[in-house]
Order: sequence, then structure tokens, then C-alpha cells
Amino acid sequence: MLFDDAPAPKLVGIARLAASSGLLEAKRQVEYLELETRRFIGRGSGRMRSIWTINPYRGCEYGCKYCYARYAHEFMELRDPELFERKIYAKQFQAVAFRAEVRRLKSGDTIWIGTATDPYQPAERRYQITRQMLEVFAGERGLDFGITTKSDFVSRDAALMARIARRNKIRVHLTITTLDERLARMVEPRAPRPALRLAAVKKLTDAGVPVSVLAHPVMPLINDSEESLDRVCAAAALYGASSFSAAPLFLKPCAAQVFLPFLEERFPHLVRRYRERFEKAAYLKGHYPEMIAERVHRICARHNLAARQELEWPLPPVQDDQLELFPSVSKGPGAEGTGAGGTLQHKVNCL
Ligand code: SF4
Repeated sequence: MLFDDAPAPKLVGIARLAASSGLLEAKRQVEYLELETRRFIGRGSGRMRSIWTINPYRGCEYGCKYCYARYAHEFMELRDPELFERKIYAKQFQAVAFRAEVRRLKSGDTIWIGTATDPYQPAERRYQITRQMLEVFAGERGLDFGITTKSDFVSRDAALMARIARRNKIRVHLTITTLDERLARMVEPRAPRPALRLAAVKKLTDAGVPVSVLAHPVMPLINDSEESLDRVCAAAALYGASSFSAAPLFLKPCAAQVFLPFLEERFPHLVRRYRERFEKAAYLKGHYPEMIAERVHRICARHNLAARQELEWPLPPVQDDQLELFPSVSKGPGAEGTGAGGTLQHKVNCL
């Protein structure tokens, strides 16, 4: 009872908004909430400072054991890393405010959708935030889009993306870490099966949308064999992808808190080696990443796919996209709502 009388911490910014978010629905153990949103477009940070990032949701139901995006919930004072997969926030979409942000982008700007969440996770079927954003982008020209997902549901938007591609660049990056369905189920418990993701690669490329397959992350002694990566790359080529990449796992503290217990349960013989490798640093350095890079290069050459030097792995970390970017946008009384299906209740939001 030591801390019973301690005053509740005063929440500010995104943490305050998260705490007051209205419950949209609760499904199984997942809660969907609506998050009042001040900014939809944020900046990457560090070496990715020149890239704009968009995350239509906060949190991700897929629950990948290695997920490094769990840190995004820490902005909202949600420090249990598992809450990232159980409390999903749908951003309250305001078309007028979003368009105002988009108008400030410049020709040639790069925009990444899905740097700290999956934009096609199950919430998208209902709330369609990603779809509504792409509909706005279909009216733009000269932009360069990257969309990262692990969901076959991305193929719903194949025709829309093909339309965007007429006046912009666009590329979908579909993550497939293994073709072994059992392993995929273990490490990415609620993500669509690899076979479904491959079918999405085909639908997108048939529609004229370029696709890269990413086998990120490469987990030492789990999915890093030449045979395993070769199978993914061969399937990517067969289904129409134009490039392939794979880069080693990194374990920031928020990811290690989930990944290491998972390892203890499913791969106990690897725990000591992982602890030794990741104890001092989140990123692997030296021989191992070099060996993986050579392996990927060889495999790509074998299947005639471009080996992408992924600027995007790790994806640009988001800063708090609620708190930065453009000056405040005032919305007039004619503010538009979603116009799409779903149950979001939109408030006129004067910022
Ligand atoms: S799909 Fe991406 S964002 Fe979602 S849990 Fe997996 S790694 Fe994290």
C-alpha cells in the first residue's frame, strides 16, 4: 500500500487525449478507441528526418513478438508493452484538416504510411482511416509514397493505389518473414498467414502497383537460414514483387520485454545467445549483419529481384505526430466527416 496515497500523475498532451478517448468497441481482448487527432502527418526522426510519416492507428492488433513500435504507446503513458496490441486507437479522421496538411507537402516529398502501426490491421476494415487518406492523396501529384503492412487486406485498395500511381510514385512493402506457417503463427500471432500475404502481392502487382517483399526482421537461428530466406524471395518473385530485402532483428527495450519471454517459452535454447548479443546494444553489429547482407544479395541475384538497400528498416521512428509539423489548422463550420463506413463519431475539432 506504499503508493496508495500518491497523487495521480497529471497527464498532458497525447497522454491526456488517450486517457479521455471514448470506447468504440471491445472485441475479444481488444479495445478500439477513438483518438482526437491534432496532426495526421509527422516527421521521421534522426536520419529519417526528411521523411513524412503517417500512422492512421495507434497500436496494432497483430501482436508480433519482435514489434519495435510498442514504444508509440509510451507517449500515452501506456507502459505495459502488451497494451500496444490490446488498446487500438483509431485516429479521428477530419478530411478538411487532413487536406490542409497535405496541401503543405511539396512535390518530391516522401511519405511513409505505417511506420508505427499496421495501416491495414483489422481496425481498418471498419474505420477505413487509411482508405480515406489515400482517397485524398489520389488528388495529389508528385509525391512519393511507401506503405508498409503485413496484411492481405491492403489489396482492397489496389485500384485506388494504381490511380495514385498515375501522378505519384507509390510502393507497397509487404512483410513476409517466413513461409513456415507454424513459425509465422508463433512470432506474428494475429497477422494474416504468409500465403494470404503472397496472394495480396499478386493482386497488387496485377493492378500495376509495385511491391517489395521485406523479410524483416531476420531473427538469428530462427528465420535466418539461406533456405528460409530463399523460399520467401522465390515466392516474392513468383507472385510479382520487384524487390526483396531482409535485415537483422533489433531489440529496443520495449520489444525486448516481449521478445525475450517469448524466446524463453518457445526457443529456450536460444535465450543465452540472444541475451549475450542484445545485452549491450539493440542493434547487431559486425559479422552477422554483413553475412545477412551478402546472403540477401546472393538470393536476390538468384531470383532476379532488386536487392533494396532499405532506407526504411528500421522504419523511421515517429516522434509524437500529434504535437508537431504544421501550424494549427482552424476548421470552419462546414468541416467534413469521414464519408466512409464505420462507427466513428466525428466532432468538429477547432485546434
Ligand atoms: S504488424 Fe507491425 S506494427 Fe503490427 S505488431 Fe507486427 S510489427 Fe508491430
